[in-house]
Amino acid sequence: MTLASSLNREAACGQNWDAIVIGAGPAGAVAARQLAHQNLRTLLIERKTFPRYKVCGCCLNQRAIDALQQIGLGQLLDSTGAVPLNQFRMQYQERETSVTLPGGLAISREVFDTRLVQSAVEAGADYLQDTTATLLNESEEAGLRSVVLTTQGQHAGTASAKVILAADGLGHPSLQNCPGFDMQVAADSRIGVGATFAANDDSSYPAGLIHMAIHRSGYVGLVRVEGDNLNLAAAIDRDFIKQCAGPADAVLQILRESGSPVLPEMTESSFKGTLPVTRKTLRPVGKRLFVLGDAAGYLEPFTGEGMANAITEGVAVAQLVPEGLRHWDSAVEQKWLSTHYALTDGRLFWCRWLTRLLRSPTAVGWGLRLFQLFPGMARPIVARLNH
Ligand SMILES: Cc1cc2nc3c(=O)[nH]c(=O)nc-3n(C[C@H](O)[C@H](O)[C@H](O)COP(=O)(O)OP(=O)(O)OC[C@H]3O[C@@H](n4cnc5c(N)ncnc54)[C@H](O)[C@@H]3O)c2cc1C
Repeated sequence: MTLASSLNREAACGQNWDAIVIGAGPAGAVAARQLAHQNLRTLLIERKTFPRYKVCGCCLNQRAIDALQQIGLGQLLDSTGAVPLNQFRMQYQERETSVTLPGGLAISREVFDTRLVQSAVEAGADYLQDTTATLLNESEEAGLRSVVLTTQGQHAGTASAKVILAADGLGHPSLQNCPGFDMQVAADSRIGVGATFAANDDSSYPAGLIHMAIHRSGYVGLVRVEGDNLNLAAAIDRDFIKQCAGPADAVLQILRESGSPVLPEMTESSFKGTLPVTRKTLRPVGKRLFVLGDAAGYLEPFTGEGMANAITEGVAVAQLVPEGLRHWDSAVEQKWLSTHYALTDGRLFWCRWLTRLLRSPTAVGWGLRLFQLFPGMARPIVARLNH
């Protein structure tokens, strides 16, 4: 499955758009689709060529699935071969415990993100890939803001819109020339590491199971996605990676020390890393600019909030854009801040609590013992993570 741009760069630069959405991950693709559904002239710009790999645990929780169903994208998941999840297994210092999962699906980001972009194009959005967008730091002129387009490091023009949506993921590189959007990165933030393997002969990681190998310096998650491929995603302390011979070695050490099987394919695979993940943009809004998804902030992968949050923010921002198009003022900015905090902050307390707990080897050890003795204790925690 490949995806082509729906217009060329000259055409993208030759017209004024209602909205330009930077980044075609779940936040950007869903926002672009919802804007196009309102007949707004929408351009979605992506720096990579889709389908593309992205470091991610690839688990959609029930909240993400519900959000997709609410906007009529439930069928998108049915046709992808996404794998229903039914069990969550944690392994720490050779001790393991399992909990039944109340819902969720595993799907590769190559397939999921590509399908979301297709749905945006079908709704009427234009899509331009293999193109990096950088927001110009100029005061808006005649109610427009502009982005500079580059491809393979070469200038490729300037495109303008009444509203810009920065949905470009961790570190929001598209805002690098705009002061005031610095991110606060947690001092103890872990980095993400990921890879995929065609480990079809192996039975230690069956379909439907999320396996989590826990270690004092991080954790490694494994899950089967469509096509029976095995997806690995980890969040690891930066110091631990420095002590090991790099990210791949750190992943393998966590697997071994937790007692999780290491497959031959894992040693051969190429691992990819991310920026430090725990970060937030203090004010994810500016003049004719909304910042959403990971570009606005992210906590930690374990809680599985990332894609659900990106999708719900994509839907919410599209409801606010028409008001911004009619008249941009501080009330519109304030509304986005309130919406963003309502969608994220309410959930942050829970995520922070769990994240802290997971960083304490003693707490993890006691938690696993308790869950083994009283499996019912784990259910409400897992259910809370799933919704
Ligand atoms: C190790 C790890 C495991 C995770 N596991 C899960 C999980 O199991 N479940 C879950 O729900 N979430 C998980 N997440 C989080 C999830 O991956 C993110 O929250 C989600 O991808 C955020 O979506 P987004 O659309 O905001 O950004 P992204 O998905 O990062 O998309 C941003 C897009 O913008 C593009 N882009 C960047 N800069 C530019 C530019 N200047 N111009 C044009 N395009 C640009 C990028 O190429 C990218 O395609 C995990 C994250 C990590 C690191």
